[in-house]
Amino acid sequence: EKSPLMSSEELVEKYKSFIRYYRDENNEPIYQKALAQLIEEQRRSLSVNWYHLYNFNPDFREIAEDIVMNPSLHISAGSSAIKELVMELMPMTEEFRIYSEGDFHLRFYNVPTKASFRDLTKFSIGRLIEIEGIITRVSDIYDKLVRASFICTNCGRIEEIDIIGEKLRVLEKCPECGAPMKLDHEMSKFIRWRSVRIQERPEDLPPGMMPEHVDGILTDDIVDDVKPGDRVRVTGIIRIKPARRDEGREGLIYKRYLEIIHVEVPNRVYEKLEITPEDEEEILKLSEREDLEELIVKSIAPSVFGWADVKRAIAYALFGGSTKILADGSKVRGEINVLLVGDPGVAKSQLLKYTAQLAPRGLYTTGKGSTAAGLTAAVVRDSATGGWTLEAGALVLADMGVACIDEFDKMSEDDRRSIHEAMEQQTISIAKAGIVATLNARTTIIAAANPKKGKYDDYVTVAENINLPPTILSRFDLVFIMKDRPGVESDSMVAEHILITRMGRNPEAKPPIDPNLLKKYIAYAKQNIDPILTDEAAERIKNYYVDVRGRGIKESEEGIVQDLISITPRQLEALIRLSEARARMHLRREVTAEDAEMAINLMEITLKGAAYD
Ligand code: ADP
Ligand code: MG
Repeated sequence: EKSPLMSSEELVEKYKSFIRYYRDENNEPIYQKALAQLIEEQRRSLSVNWYHLYNFNPDFREIAEDIVMNPSLHISAGSSAIKELVMELMPMTEEFRIYSEGDFHLRFYNVPTKASFRDLTKFSIGRLIEIEGIITRVSDIYDKLVRASFICTNCGRIEEIDIIGEKLRVLEKCPECGAPMKLDHEMSKFIRWRSVRIQERPEDLPPGMMPEHVDGILTDDIVDDVKPGDRVRVTGIIRIKPARRDEGREGLIYKRYLEIIHVEVPNRVYEKLEITPEDEEEILKLSEREDLEELIVKSIAPSVFGWADVKRAIAYALFGGSTKILADGSKVRGEINVLLVGDPGVAKSQLLKYTAQLAPRGLYTTGKGSTAAGLTAAVVRDSATGGWTLEAGALVLADMGVACIDEFDKMSEDDRRSIHEAMEQQTISIAKAGIVATLNARTTIIAAANPKKGKYDDYVTVAENINLPPTILSRFDLVFIMKDRPGVESDSMVAEHILITRMGRNPEAKPPIDPNLLKKYIAYAKQNIDPILTDEAAERIKNYYVDVRGRGIKESEEGIVQDLISITPRQLEALIRLSEARARMHLRREVTAEDAEMAINLMEITLKGAAYD
């Protein structure tokens, strides 16, 4: 790469003057300050917003434009500029002398070349681009050779070779005496190296499409900046390497990857949904409507007829309760998990798919998962390095969002083991092949399962009906049994609904609240409202709990087989969450007795063992 702009010495001077003299709109010398802080903390990377360079002064327009074309050259000039400034500004102590001898990095971000996974190929090799995605895989950390020291086995002469590109040029013979040279590891220079996989975010994915991905390389001081499940904005140089699967076409098939120069893990919550002041006005107006709850329920999968209770439960789950950190530091989840168990063909899948689209950060998957990592996480062999890689599953990818999991009963044995932790502690711990990690899975689960015998059997328990252990079942706040019951009246209503919807003549198939607005409404509520229980609500829940427990004891004394009509402290927590969710839906900070009542109604329906459409 050769820039026609100016010599590299001149370019270093330009970057030094930018760091020294750039002032933001508040007249703050932000880069000078950042540099002072860098030295104080003995860090090595300075991040520079591309737009600041572009707007610094007219000279810098050309420089900024050249950055995306010839990134390596600018990174190297900018990094030299930092190093020179560090040497000028640092205290003259031994500690800082050692620090200043290390590598420094100028890391550009917010470049104008924004790429998406589907148009990555429109950029040429060597360009600097920005892409947003989710980290799905993270390899071990390796040491990468960047400067090789060769020593002559005869005369002891030392030759240093900087590694450019991806291949080591081996120095076979001593230039002095012709004797064999050998690589000296101790004198050579290595940097920390890690490969990651960046994948299209589930919420950006059109239904039914496979997510695209690109691998990226992190080096030196940024190797620890990401973990699986992180949503990231990455700036990197497009590189290319021979594909492993060349299938005999020696050297013809290549694969793109990114040499990552900057990673940002943006504010982890609903940052993608921009809520404008106009949106906010609309949201507040909607929240005051008397019929808000009915409107929301009707806006969930309107083309599915009936199942109002199930839709109400889904609505509550979309809003969720408040996560609580108790005095002893333990955490009680706020996320509501809902399971739909039912006969085939009762629109479970359709409800799930719609919900995944509607939820901020929603994703739809099946129990088998779409990758080796399944629902939780897995340690897999990485084809590029041959080493072990940690791969995130669906619950990690939907962290802080909603995972709609169809055919939940088909999950793998590994997932069955780790899903308990995910559903209660909201983390997934993995310790395998030397990789030890804990990933976040603060995920709302809306799942569906089919009875193992094809049809739901009223004479055995839910657990016996589906292929799931009670320990997993009990982690659902609500379990709905959706039965397909032939009935002349209801059949003709469903038929009518389906037919006129398919003919495009069903006014009810149009959601009363536009899905985009509803999505923003949910995000807004989750961001701004953390409801707390009032005494009246707590009292109501307590009375109900004691009452149902009493019922259970009496019936079991009478020898009635208990299954669903048993209630445990888990359901008590579920009731609190559901009540909170309803308050949040109304953008209320207080959970009222009415919220508790509605939550109890829903739970009663599920405890009685069936929902009807
Ligand atoms: P499941 O996942 O429960 O087996 P699906 O969601 O695949 O069922 O539904 C099967 C088909 O029947 C879908 O095309 C769905 O739209 C239709 N269907 C079933 N029940 C209803 C209903 N209550 N309203 C509208 N369509 C329905
Ligand atoms: Mg289905």
